[in-house]
Amino acid sequence: CGIVGYVGSNVDGKAQDVVLEGLARLEYRGYDSAGVALVTGDSVSTAKKAGKLANLLEELQSAPLPQSSTGIGHTRWATHGGPTDANAHPHRGGTDSKLAVIHNGIIENFHALKSTLTADGVEFVSETDTEVVAQLLSRAYAGDLTEAMRTVVDQLEGAFTLLAVHADQPGVVVGARRNSPLVVGLGEGENFLGSDVAAFIGYTRHALELEQDQIVTITPEGASVINFDGTPAQGKAFEVTWDAAA
Ligand code: GLU
Repeated sequence: CGIVGYVGSNVDGKAQDVVLEGLARLEYRGYDSAGVALVTGDSVSTAKKAGKLANLLEELQSAPLPQSSTGIGHTRWATHGGPTDANAHPHRGGTDSKLAVIHNGIIENFHALKSTLTADGVEFVSETDTEVVAQLLSRAYAGDLTEAMRTVVDQLEGAFTLLAVHADQPGVVVGARRNSPLVVGLGEGENFLGSDVAAFIGYTRHALELEQDQIVTITPEGASVINFDGTPAQGKAFEVTWDAAA
């Protein structure tokens, strides 16, 4: 139900704080679970909990994650699979803990995709439609997460905002959207993604709205947008004018 992404410089290490703050600002939308994934060295570390954000914070206090400058966070409104820790996002793909995905929306054709993957030996640990995307992305990944996302979105039907991170590409968060919103927050030496501007309003007023069927790749230096067919795109630039305290 709420999505946040962050990349900063590799010395700031503040991804977790930014992502949690964004999730708190998105709480008003309602949710049943929350989770974060941070790129930490050779792997992606995740923490996720059913229930309120406070449960996730408690978990992070008792089992802190390593510092990171690249992260994603999610509040879930369950559609496929009950509100459990295992079904909470982020979801990992592959078996090497390198890739994590968060998702708002519904993948309508997840059953067919899941059957094919299962027949191919992929083991699922959740009941969500989202985990299918994580597994597809992990299989499609060949060194370029944006390219992998482009391959995978072509196989998906339904409504989705997706964010993904991969440990082999620290300093990169890739987002995609169809029938579900995604905005980019443009900072200096850091950039943001959100399901709405509330996700990053504490940090920047410069924003970019993605249009239908677009993929965005953010790094600390900038944001680049392409259409699902691979052609270059822009997104719509705007300034956030409303008060952060509202
Ligand atoms: N369909 C996904 C799930 O049930 C995402 C739900 C959401 O938008 O939070 O896990």
